[in-house]
Amino acid sequence: MNFQSLPTDAKSILALKWTDYEPYYKELETRELSSENINAWLDDWSTLASTADEHYWRLYIATTVNTADKEVEDQYNQYLEKIQPAAKTAEQQLKEKLLASGLSPKGFETALRRIQAEAEIFSEENLPLLAEEQKLVTDYNKLIGSLTVMWDGEERTFAQMRAVLYETDRSVRLRAWEAAEACLLKQRQNINELWEKFVPLRLKIAENAAMPDYRAYMWKQRFRFDYSPEDCKSFHAAIEEVVVPAAQRVYERRRQRLGIEAVRPWDIYVDPLGTTPIKPYETIDEFKSKSHAIFQQVDPKFGEYFQIMMDEGLLDLESRKNKAPGAYSLGLHVVHRPFLFMNNIYTSLDVQTILHEGGHAFHEFERAHVHFYQRGEIYLPAEFAEVASMGMELIASPYKTKEYGGFYTESEAARAMIELLEDFITFWPYMALVDAFQHWIYENPTEGSDASRCESKWGELWDRFMIGIDYSGWEDVKKTYWHRQSHLFDGPFYYIEYGLALLGAIQVWANARKDQKKAVAEYRKVLALGATVPLPQLFAAAGAKFAFDADTLKEAVNLMEEVIGDMETKL
Ligand SMILES: [Zn+2]
Repeated sequence: MNFQSLPTDAKSILALKWTDYEPYYKELETRELSSENINAWLDDWSTLASTADEHYWRLYIATTVNTADKEVEDQYNQYLEKIQPAAKTAEQQLKEKLLASGLSPKGFETALRRIQAEAEIFSEENLPLLAEEQKLVTDYNKLIGSLTVMWDGEERTFAQMRAVLYETDRSVRLRAWEAAEACLLKQRQNINELWEKFVPLRLKIAENAAMPDYRAYMWKQRFRFDYSPEDCKSFHAAIEEVVVPAAQRVYERRRQRLGIEAVRPWDIYVDPLGTTPIKPYETIDEFKSKSHAIFQQVDPKFGEYFQIMMDEGLLDLESRKNKAPGAYSLGLHVVHRPFLFMNNIYTSLDVQTILHEGGHAFHEFERAHVHFYQRGEIYLPAEFAEVASMGMELIASPYKTKEYGGFYTESEAARAMIELLEDFITFWPYMALVDAFQHWIYENPTEGSDASRCESKWGELWDRFMIGIDYSGWEDVKKTYWHRQSHLFDGPFYYIEYGLALLGAIQVWANARKDQKKAVAEYRKVLALGATVPLPQLFAAAGAKFAFDADTLKEAVNLMEEVIGDMETKL
């Protein structure tokens, strides 16, 4: 059977039915395995699995590009019902066949460890439950995506309303914040009801997989071989010790600069360093060409990749009604191309987001050569994937000025750098809050399934980590803030990755500050490794330590505060 005859263009991939996939899976299942043909067998499997995977992601992308497109939603649901469960079962059989063969092809060790973990948690009974979970996620996205606010006589998306929080007029910010929050609070009950369907479903999934609890299930599912729940808790404590006070200093500087009595939730986005918000660009085309110029300066290869993305229509940047919220870069594994999705709001945040997602997108290009599908793509540890994205945010920072074709004047660049570093500092406590919340939910599943208990626990953890923002009078908003935290819904336990990766990215940046050329070269080299080595080795290859401790954090925070101090002299 010729696996090279599987389609490679979008239209033909989207037209595939299960009956088209099935004979290929059957053939792989029946082929006799030996040390001679194992590599060819893995190659064929890679080709097939990449096709099914790209099929899924193309449909997923289409549902986020237009959440109101019924036809796409139907196709997506068809995939979830007809193809995904059958493909997963077939994949599982191939994994079992590989494990049973006792063969361990050279260079396949890290993949094999992951396949072993997947085999441990696989349960046929879970396939319909996982599909059900996906549908709940679609419901959540639809709900959040449909939120609109009437603002100055115009219907605005929730994402567009955030732009108003950059306004210097405090009363305008307050009015905008209130309008957006009121709109979200109106959905409080709906989101809570939706949440209460997620948790029992997840408990059942863990039970079917014969795992002691959902966290243990997710630990295997997320291939967390190199750290434990206890490590996460140490990280929370280290953040509380080192970063919470630094974040308080950030909020205090903000308070003084804005000349206000307390930092309120509508005061946290406005730039306290300028009387007018930075408007880095006017049009999406300008945004693309300036982003391209920056990537080109970091490394000509990145400029080349971004040009391909522009030429091939792999960027969807503007915010519109019926577009899912957020930003992502996803990999299409047959064509070896990323798809980059954003909701631009014409502020400096977009510049940061494109650098971030650009880092992910270039990772897709750099690891395209990795030989086996199981080694290079879906198995990439997120804890490292986010070093690629946040690392890019930092190593690109020297090129953000107009001098390099970028967005800013010198002093705007200094403002943007302060904003970035302060965002990172204040992110760590929020990350710890989200992660601690998830540990609590699944350690206490009865309470975790009760949305009102979740609201009060979230409020309690908020007070532990989020010191410095005054929410008094708005307790309901504080307690339901997690409703907008999509990871709780669509990626359980997926959040600490950002915190761990940030610590890696700061270390990469610290190296770049000593020797930019060498650090960028190392960065590219480690992107090209894909998932071929375990997580701590990926960090080491990037010149960083995979760490949870207060000392490493302290070193990072010291550097960040030192650079903030430097930048303040350039304002
Ligand atoms: Zn990311």
